[in-house]
Amino acid sequence: MLDSYGRNIDYIRISVTDRCNFQCLYCSHRLDVLPREQVLRFEDILNIVKAAKDLGFKKVRLTGGEPLLRRHIEQLVAMLQPVGLSIHMTTNGYFLHELSKPLFDAGLNGVNVSLDFVDAEKFRNITNGGRVEDVIAGIDSALDAGLKVKLNTVFTSWHTTDDMKQLIMFSKSRSIPIRFIELMPKNESSFSALFRNISEAKEMMGAFTKMTVEQVSGSDGPAQYFVTEDGVKVGFISFFNLNQCKQCNRLRVSSNGTIYPCLLSNKKLDAFDDIKAGTDKTKEVLSEAILMKPIHGNANEVGPYMSEIGG
Ligand code: SAM
Ligand code: SF4
Repeated sequence: MLDSYGRNIDYIRISVTDRCNFQCLYCSHRLDVLPREQVLRFEDILNIVKAAKDLGFKKVRLTGGEPLLRRHIEQLVAMLQPVGLSIHMTTNGYFLHELSKPLFDAGLNGVNVSLDFVDAEKFRNITNGGRVEDVIAGIDSALDAGLKVKLNTVFTSWHTTDDMKQLIMFSKSRSIPIRFIELMPKNESSFSALFRNISEAKEMMGAFTKMTVEQVSGSDGPAQYFVTEDGVKVGFISFFNLNQCKQCNRLRVSSNGTIYPCLLSNKKLDAFDDIKAGTDKTKEVLSEAILMKPIHGNANEVGPYMSEIGG
């Protein structure tokens, strides 16, 4: 469906839980989680995806919190698969070693796995206790299962050239693309200490590899892509770039049924009851949210917590 500015909105991201097993320093993950009755059920999420399909959407991404914490998530994927959208997930990868195969069998097409560091200690510190070995085992199991894998790295002041090199070498060893994401100001205290302009990531990479611009066909999101001399596809995503708003094709739904038309806006629509009322009502409320999308984001409106809407 076209929004008020002629953009074709065909990609929906749905958070299936606000809970998480990590507490990344920049994510402002909330510890007071929603009571179960306020979280969308699998049937409700199916309503959203069916309504989105009717409105011409092509792709759905399940996210969180940590989506793999949602019990029987593979059953949700199996319920969504017949609708016909391409199904993806963003995950911290911790539980992938046990869930990759069931998720692939259920119809999941791909996973974006967050990997900020290969270095075990830095990884543990940024995630507040996560073990990088478990995430790497998860990535390998996803590849073995046949899932398409991409890596997401939030670029921070902790990253040294050596860390960047290790991440690129890891991507090369698994032949998977990696995207460096600039921090969005979601948590005031840790944000200023961790923030670093994404242009510095490109500069740091220039110290150990040559990169050529990659021409991307179709809509591959807001990333600007390059290929290293070793053939690794590398994306850079800046948090505030008015140019990328022209290509925005997304709508986000939080796990309690609030629709967010734009990540950099305070606009939102409480759609919990409408979603529960069935596909027709859900279609109406999704259409309303699409028409609420602003022409571009506002850097002063930082919107919801990342753990509510899943990035
Ligand atoms: N738990 C899953 C994960 O970590 O991949 C899914 C949810 S997480 C909120 C989705 C993505 O948002 C992750 O790649 C994470 O690194 C990123 N993210 C979280 N907080 C961010 C922030 N303040 N700025 C930029 N990206 C952020
Ligand atoms: Fe959890 Fe993902 Fe937020 Fe990290 S970024 S705390 S893994 S939701």
